[in-house]
Amino acid sequence: MKIEKILQEKELTLSFEIFPPKADSPVDVIYTTLAGLSKLNPDFISVTYGAGGSNKGRALEIAALVKNTYGVEPLAHLTCVGASREETADQIRKMSEAGIENILALRGDVPKDMDPEHAFTAIPHASDLIAQIRKTAPDCCIGAAAYPEVHAESDSRAQDLCYLKKKADEGAAFFITQLFFDNDAYFRLCDYLEALNVKAPVVAGIMPMLNPEQILRMATLCGCSIPASISHLIARYKNRPDDFRKAGMEYAERQIDALVRGGARGIHLYSMNKAEEITEIVRACGLR
Ligand code: FAD
Repeated sequence: MKIEKILQEKELTLSFEIFPPKADSPVDVIYTTLAGLSKLNPDFISVTYGAGGSNKGRALEIAALVKNTYGVEPLAHLTCVGASREETADQIRKMSEAGIENILALRGDVPKDMDPEHAFTAIPHASDLIAQIRKTAPDCCIGAAAYPEVHAESDSRAQDLCYLKKKADEGAAFFITQLFFDNDAYFRLCDYLEALNVKAPVVAGIMPMLNPEQILRMATLCGCSIPASISHLIARYKNRPDDFRKAGMEYAERQIDALVRGGARGIHLYSMNKAEEITEIVRACGLR
């Protein structure tokens, strides 16, 4: 089923992101994660894609598994950085043949081993990838990334918004946000898009904090700011991992609660393949 339709029919969606196991690990390490997450009856599960297509076979295999074995709608991520038009069209066709109806169109970041000179030549931006998907698989439902705190490479909020609108104009039917810890940033982004008459719903991407190193690394990588309340949690619990994990999960629960009360259209949890913690948060928030 197309995610666009699910978002039209439901007041609030619940979804998760998973990442495929590394190429040298057996694929079945993901089974426990999927068994746990699918019990929560999510509206969709998204499967990440290594920028540069490093794991493209496995990502497709897992997306098909989400659909065929666990009966959950998959959202397959796809990046265009460093990929030729032919390679990209080929991957989109493979996705269609595997029954994938929803693709998250992303530019990706330049992998360490890629020559930056050639990274953005064929399909430079996510908006160009959206156009390519529409050409190769016209029936596909397309989503795109949005940034409550502005994408790190953007010169200004106005420029960032202009390219978000371009993604919607090219055919993105919904957005999923980068992780954020300050809900005001999410609601501001929704207001800006509404003012630009962009109708595509904005699903809120939430990453539960399970350990301080991981959250600081992710925040740096994603250009997400750390509010003082979180710096305090890190300082207070840095030598007490269980207490930090508990406090981090409670933070996510409060954040989700306030997003739902404020009218967010969807909650997308970056699961980090941790089904137990995600289940605890979903239940505590009364989302299932
Ligand atoms: P774009 O929309 O192309 O934007 C990138 C930059 O270029 C922005 O600064 C934008 O303002 C600017 N820009 C956009 N369009 C134009 C244009 N037409 N002309 C000039 N400038 C333009 N990465 C992965 O490798 N794999 C994943 O699976 C993955 N999943 C993600 C899921 C979500 C929900 C999010 C939020 C991010 C994900 N990423 C993933 C990270 C993403 O690839 C990076 O954030 C990347 O830096 C930007 O991707 P984008 O699709 O937003 O790019």
